[in-house]
Amino acid sequence: MISNYKLETFITRDEIESKVKELGEKITEDFKGEELFLVGVLKGSWIFMADLVRNIDLPLEVSFISVSSYVGQTTKSSGVVRLLCDIDKPLNDRNVILVEDIVDTGLTLSYLKKLLEVRNPKSFKICALLDKPERRIAEISADYVGFTIPDEFVVGYGLDYNGYFRNLKDISILKLL
Ligand code: 5GP
Repeated sequence: MISNYKLETFITRDEIESKVKELGEKITEDFKGEELFLVGVLKGSWIFMADLVRNIDLPLEVSFISVSSYVGQTTKSSGVVRLLCDIDKPLNDRNVILVEDIVDTGLTLSYLKKLLEVRNPKSFKICALLDKPERRIAEISADYVGFTIPDEFVVGYGLDYNGYFRNLKDISILKLL
């Protein structure tokens, strides 16, 4: 377990709830009359995905893909993205929305975009709950963004530090003391 840390609440559960509702409504409007295939990036996006799908009023399917970019006990990305587990269905002729917890350097998303776009989806969009543009290395941006945040390491609502804190209802800044 971790000791010597402080959590500062940054985005409250109420703010998250209304933002996720807003994102779901926007996606519903943009894809009116269509079906969706949402692909969540594990593990950080699973709580966001669960709330997002319940705010989208369209027929949809959900799948998950698992990648790893952080090594051990660190708050910085290694920059090397590895595919741990692929999605279980083909993407051709589907409206794919990749659902990510946070875009930091952008290396994970640009890796996934390249991997999935060649599978001939009808359309391909990215939805990220959080965006840290200050840290961007790869030239990539999400089509749907919940909150743009400064360069701070955040946990909660699915986001972890060394596996912990995913269960927190608010998003907090983690300070290691
Ligand atoms: P990127 O490849 O954009 O640098 O990193 C994306 C992944 O890094 C995210 O899916 C997330 O798992 C992790 N990440 C980036 N910034 C943070 C952060 O502030 N907090 C947590 N918990 N994870 C982060």
